[in-house]
Amino acid sequence: MSEPQEVILLNGQTLACDSCGNSTFEQHRWKLQTTGMTFMNLDWANRDATCFVCATCRRIHWFHL
Ligand SMILES: [Zn+2]
Repeated sequence: MSEPQEVILLNGQTLACDSCGNSTFEQHRWKLQTTGMTFMNLDWANRDATCFVCATCRRIHWFHL
């Protein structure tokens, strides 16, 4: 698990939590792939999602990076 840090988005803005306004997040990379998605053969099913978990309220912010 990474230490909470500020996140700069692709548009240059600093990520702020939707719920509490905090600006430090733990970063995780999670596979989007699931059995159901594989069965449906969606072209994005095998890509990774980058998830930022708010260090204060634990809200998860998902990004498709
Ligand atoms: Zn928060």
